[in-house]
Amino acid sequence: MTKVLETRLEIDLTALETNFKLLKSYLSPETKMMGVVKAFAYGTDSVIIGKHLVKIGAEQLAVAYIEEGVRLRKAGIKAPILVFYPQLEDIQNLVDYHLTPSVYTHYFLTGLCQELTHHAVDSFGIHLKINTGLNRLGFELNEMDSVVKHLDSEKKIKVAGVFSHLAASGNRDEIEFTKTQIAKFKEARSFFKAHLKYDFDSHICNSSGILNFPEAEFDMVRAGIALYGYGNNPKEHQLLKAVASLKTVIAQLRTIQKGDSVGYERMFRAEQTTEIATLPLGYADGISRIFGNGKARVLINGKKAPIIGNVCMDTLMVDVTGIECDEGDEVEVFGKHNTVVDFDSHQQTIPYEVITRISQRVTRVLV
Ligand SMILES: *Cc1c(COP(=O)(O)O)cnc(C)c1O
Repeated sequence: MTKVLETRLEIDLTALETNFKLLKSYLSPETKMMGVVKAFAYGTDSVIIGKHLVKIGAEQLAVAYIEEGVRLRKAGIKAPILVFYPQLEDIQNLVDYHLTPSVYTHYFLTGLCQELTHHAVDSFGIHLKINTGLNRLGFELNEMDSVVKHLDSEKKIKVAGVFSHLAASGNRDEIEFTKTQIAKFKEARSFFKAHLKYDFDSHICNSSGILNFPEAEFDMVRAGIALYGYGNNPKEHQLLKAVASLKTVIAQLRTIQKGDSVGYERMFRAEQTTEIATLPLGYADGISRIFGNGKARVLINGKKAPIIGNVCMDTLMVDVTGIECDEGDEVEVFGKHNTVVDFDSHQQTIPYEVITRISQRVTRVLV
């Protein structure tokens, strides 16, 4: 018998290409694409996805932490890599591996400059992050003067980019707010253009920014979730293709009778004769307990089967009454045929969280 992995996360690079091309089609040809591959490329595999994105034309990549960038460099990726949340404790690796930090405090800028005195580098690239309303990370507009002054005294640093992040680019009710963010960003961009006297890349759009605010594409966009197949409206959902498919098999089938219960705390009680299937994956694999008790559906032989009872650590049970199936049959938990939006049928959370939570215990397989 050939060995078939029971639980695995399949990665489909053709889907990635489809999504990449779709996003490119919304942009002017000269706009650069930064592929966001933080958190293991949204739960898939950052090396496989990062390499392929560069191959199909992404000019730059982005990660959250320095460690994540080092991993890509060690795998041979040469493209610029922006680090959204660089930590000073890891600053030496940042410089050694030629990663580009997002800079949003004077504190970090001082630490970086100190580190650079130990390296024979010139024009070390950074991207300045500006807060335009998300209130997460970024210099305020009224700090720009002091930023320019600080940079004037640092000859080893070059501003390669100025960027900001949108708070609600996927939300139609917040269009006016997003426009104020874009306006503030334009102000910041003009300020730095006037004071730095050299060119840099400006960028503010994430995936839904690309789709909903084409007037704000500037020099580059930062695409994450859409590359992996998820958008913010039904039209995009149809055009985008899921890159990751979480699959497993039926470990055991059984028939229970009216009054029988299923799983810990006996949360499911059968009201009639019920066929149930046990699947060998649980919350330790990344299927949160919020999906227990009817809140999510998996796909078995073309039919939707709801999760019943509490999700266990290594297993969960689904109701397969009326579904023709056997032990060993394949199950698509979510993916190409049962998108995360279909799986999370009660909208307990967002696709970002579902796909990034798949634990490293689950083997990644390229298909
Ligand atoms: C994660 C992230 C992105 C990508 O956002 P998506 O909505 O997944 O496209 C872009 N920019 C920043 C700063 C991020 O943290």
